[in-house]
Amino acid sequence: MVTKPDCLFCKIIAGEIPSAKVYEDDQCFAFNDITPQAPTHILIVPRQHIDSLDKAEGMDRDVLGSLLLAAAEIAREKGFADAGYRVVVNTNADGGQTVFHLHVHLLAGRPFVFPPG
Ligand code: AMP
Ligand code: ZN
Repeated sequence: MVTKPDCLFCKIIAGEIPSAKVYEDDQCFAFNDITPQAPTHILIVPRQHIDSLDKAEGMDRDVLGSLLLAAAEIAREKGFADAGYRVVVNTNADGGQTVFHLHVHLLAGRPFVFPPG
């Protein structure tokens, strides 16, 4: 498993930095965002370190699929799937990415506008 010693999310997955875990499987780990932008704001990250969507490769196909399936499963488990939710993958500077370990934002509990700001 590829991890990066100085990476915030690698440390959260390893339990070296505390988080409010909401889900985990063999490929993904999910926890509450520390600065929630909606009543529910969960981050879903791959256990393996990938800098960003921009750095994902063909061999990451399975883990990329697992991240989205985890988002849908969490949404059903937590009961907001029918009401609706949004998944976001901020990528590089213009995309608003600040933590360079690939992550999916799962937001719910209020309506969202499109396009986002
Ligand atoms: P992004 O801007 O897309 O890279 O998203 C990074 C997210 O990580 C932001 O929504 C932050 O609020 C969140 N974040 C930063 N540090 C932590 C932490 N220690 N625990 C949980 N979420 C965090
Ligand atoms: Zn990492």
